[in-house]
Amino acid sequence: MRHDVVVIGAGVQGCAVAMRLAQAGKDVLVLERSIPGAEASSAAGGILSPGVEAVEPGPFYELCRASLARYAAFARELERISELAIGYRGGGTLEVALDEHHARLLAARAERLERHGVAAVSLDDVAARRLEPARSPERRGALFFPDEAPVDPRLLSRALYLAASAAGARFRTGQVHRVLHAGGRAVGVAHEAGRIDAGAVVLAAGAWSTLVEGSGLQRGAVRPVRGQIALLDTRPRLLSRVVFSDKGYVVPRADGRVLCGSTMEEVGFEKAVTAGGLRAVLDLAIEIAPQLARAPLIDSWSNFRPASPDGWPLLGAASVPGLWYATGHTRNGILLTPITADAVSAAVLGNTPPVDLTPFSVQRLR
Ligand SMILES: Cc1cc2nc3c(=O)[nH]c(=O)nc-3n(C[C@H](O)[C@H](O)[C@H](O)COP(=O)(O)OP(=O)(O)OC[C@H]3O[C@@H](n4cnc5c(N)ncnc54)[C@H](O)[C@@H]3O)c2cc1C
Repeated sequence: MRHDVVVIGAGVQGCAVAMRLAQAGKDVLVLERSIPGAEASSAAGGILSPGVEAVEPGPFYELCRASLARYAAFARELERISELAIGYRGGGTLEVALDEHHARLLAARAERLERHGVAAVSLDDVAARRLEPARSPERRGALFFPDEAPVDPRLLSRALYLAASAAGARFRTGQVHRVLHAGGRAVGVAHEAGRIDAGAVVLAAGAWSTLVEGSGLQRGAVRPVRGQIALLDTRPRLLSRVVFSDKGYVVPRADGRVLCGSTMEEVGFEKAVTAGGLRAVLDLAIEIAPQLARAPLIDSWSNFRPASPDGWPLLGAASVPGLWYATGHTRNGILLTPITADAVSAAVLGNTPPVDLTPFSVQRLR
């Protein structure tokens, strides 16, 4: 049987693009070798922060802003369809300086962001402590991004799977070995269960994208960067919003759990939580909010960011007709899910994407 579109990978990108294509009436099959959302998408912190992540105004910053601007409606849509709350809530992001060097960088960035009309507020120590009384008493200043918000990536992944299914996308378990080509275009995939024909193939295989033969991606176009996370339990709730420093972050959940993240490690596909990784994320968390030292450690995990050489995603057409990319989202895949869904699905459907995809084309890596 021939499908309109086959999507390789059911992380947040694969599910979100599949949902939009199915909503547009396409016959979509999503191929996932594991459980949908089980890899990077469930491991993420869930920070949605153009302010912290895209420090220079430009196309990447605009992409991040466009995605954040979509989030409230996206969350409402997913929650309505899936009947699952995804933990999207306001509160803003607080970036704190823990040493003089970072304090100087923050001050310079505040000026730059203000010049570009970005909603970022410089806070003195009194104002920062009013927002987060549990933060360290160190007096070095902070930057507050009031428009930003976190989401719970595990719930987001699940809701996206349910919403894509509700729209009519079908899911099949198993490994895709290869993208099949004929007559100068992509025509389907070689799946572990056999050949699957399709009018279009969307590669959304995260950190494993270059391992799919025939993907057209050079080695290194997407590589795994391991991140470790430790989960603490605080009762009563100690923090209200995401607090960032230059070395990591803490992400409080509404129920009092606090995610402490994250390392950036070039160790290939070695999935492990290490003593050194845990020490790094916990030291940083305690430096941000000293009372976290008393919180029980209740879980920890690691997974792989699908990292591109410049940290920008690979979106849109491959060099071969019929093949499309929704990969390489590096540290910001959760933030960039709504815009990836809208932009890549528009490109596949032959419509004009809501943002110019040229800066995110694979051509820039050649
Ligand atoms: C520790 C950590 C913290 C993070 N924190 C944040 C954050 O706070 N905010 C943010 O915006 N982003 C964050 N990220 C980044 C974000 O998680 C990723 O950019 C995003 O999840 C990528 O989504 P994806 O769908 O491309 O990848 P994945 O979720 O990894 O999905 C890819 C899927 O493809 C499947 N697959 C791979 N190869 C094949 C094959 N050959 N056949 C079939 N299936 C295949 C895999 O099994 C997997 O399910 C974080 C990442 C990590 C690791």
